[in-house]
Amino acid sequence: HLTLAIETSCDETSAAVVKNGRQILSNIISSQIQLHQKYGGVVPEIASRKHIENVIPVIDQALAEAKITLADINTIGVTYGPGLVGALLVGVAAAKALAFASNIPLVGVNHLEGHIFANFLAHTDLEPPFIALVVSGGHTSLIHLRNYDEFILLGQTRDDAAGEAFDKIARIMKFPYPGGPYIDQAAKSGNPDAIAFPRALRGARGEENYEFSFSGLKSAVLNYLNNAAQRGATVNISDVAASFQAAVVEVLVNKTMHAVQHSGVRQVVLAGGVAANSALRDELGKRAAERGTTLFYPPPVLCTDNAAMIACRAYYQYLGGDISDLNLNGVPGLRLGQ
Ligand code: ATP
Ligand code: MG
Ligand code: FE
Repeated sequence: HLTLAIETSCDETSAAVVKNGRQILSNIISSQIQLHQKYGGVVPEIASRKHIENVIPVIDQALAEAKITLADINTIGVTYGPGLVGALLVGVAAAKALAFASNIPLVGVNHLEGHIFANFLAHTDLEPPFIALVVSGGHTSLIHLRNYDEFILLGQTRDDAAGEAFDKIARIMKFPYPGGPYIDQAAKSGNPDAIAFPRALRGARGEENYEFSFSGLKSAVLNYLNNAAQRGATVNISDVAASFQAAVVEVLVNKTMHAVQHSGVRQVVLAGGVAANSALRDELGKRAAERGTTLFYPPPVLCTDNAAMIACRAYYQYLGGDISDLNLNGVPGLRLGQ
């Protein structure tokens, strides 16, 4: 079974071919990062235009690299939300056109479910159930995946996403966009205990609260940097990065481990761009091991946006009979498990 998938929810135009849901034959990712870098973030109108230019060449390249043609494809998957509406529409329109013209079943995929399913590509023996921590540029959510089609949302952020906090702090510290990887790198030579930044909604011991909040932490780091600048004091950027990162990681890991304990599952997975963060991987790995729980995470290229993860999700939806019709539309605010 061959799945072709298209992903255009944000600033990556991607197309992939995946065999039997788990084996990547091609995964072409055309990133627009450089285009948006001078604005310090993604400009939606520019993203849509670039997707229009890129989508067909990227699909052609995905088929060519997999050494197949459209006639060999059994299912077409496409991200239909959440994301930027203009960006989503480009992928959805392309997928519908191909599905209609070649009479191939179409499957609309939730981008966040795709991020979780990147783990099935990286770990071919992995099976549900597990607890998933989705930490991406726009989302921070704890999910209990009961089986391939049952997602229970345990909690999410009330304000900023973890990745958003990384990017905003990085921007203040004059790192290029997206700044998450730069903070990760700078933190390696810093002291995580140098500055006591707040841990919001950490919850008392044993209290069940799976909501997150990162906007207060963002303000605390901003104030710290502004105060230092006013006093003419020099700041140790590595210490700020390490202390900020430690605050984010502590809350993420505590809540994830709480969900693991409470659900009784023995597996935990990381998903989304921030899953590439080395401190988060190390800390969660350590804490999971103490509990006899296995931690899974994808390689960096499958953590950030890519179409292979969408193909994997589409395959399992296809197996479950979840086929879309040609009325499929982009849904910018699509929720998980919807
Ligand atoms: P969403 O999936 O919520 O729509 P998105 O697709 O823009 O958002 P992703 O591509 O999953 O987000 O992830 C991008 C985010 O991951 C950025 O915020 C980036 O800074 C962050 N990120 C990537 N690598 C690291 C790292 N090593 N440490 C921290 N953050 C990282
Ligand atoms: Mg991106
Ligand atoms: Fe994403």
